Amino acid sequence: MPNPGLSTVTPIVNVGFRSTNIWVVGAGTTRLLVDLGWVGMMGALQHELRRKDIPLDAIRAGFATHYHIDHAGCAEDLKRHGMALWVFEEQVPSVDGLSRWVKPGEPFTPIRSEGNVLLRCVDSRRALADLGIAGEVIPTPGHSPCSVSLVLNSGACFTGDLTPEAMVGSEDRTVVRASWDRLRALGARTVYPGHAAPYPMPPA
Ligand SMILES: [Zn+2]
Repeated sequence: MPNPGLSTVTPIVNVGFRSTNIWVVGAGTTRLLVDLGWVGMMGALQHELRRKDIPLDAIRAGFATHYHIDHAGCAEDLKRHGMALWVFEEQVPSVDGLSRWVKPGEPFTPIRSEGNVLLRCVDSRRALADLGIAGEVIPTPGHSPCSVSLVLNSGACFTGDLTPEAMVGSEDRTVVRASWDRLRALGARTVYPGHAAPYPMPPA
């Protein structure tokens, strides 16, 4: 049941770099980070946040749409700056696997389980409401089994690398389609992807 006390008008700012988007979703003075930057790029992320006038300590929580190095690389660094890392249960097996993608010598801060907030997607509406954000996180496998997407009541959805249906290659088409259908069923109208500009939700 949507909470009428929550604002459905939320500012959305991109603080990404190097062709990867990092979305900041705002409510009042609180900010939620959707995707957490490249490995070793915490300095660049801080610079982007300053440039866009977003204080680091306003970022109360954040999550990775999936555990690839360009989406979860700064997770532990952000935790050290006070961000609560939301890990959805679908993602638990992939968190440790992130280091597999890191090249030797890359300045990666391994993600510790201490301080992570384990969440089930079915509980995400409540967790978001605690931040003043009206929306829900749902599993959207297709690009990776650990992929989740955020859908705001406003119709904005944050899909990470979920493959557009028209671009399915080696992915399982049925799985990808089911994920997009779930997003549409929740009222998603504008797609904020991991690596491109926002675009209108394509019809089924
Ligand atoms: Zn990916």
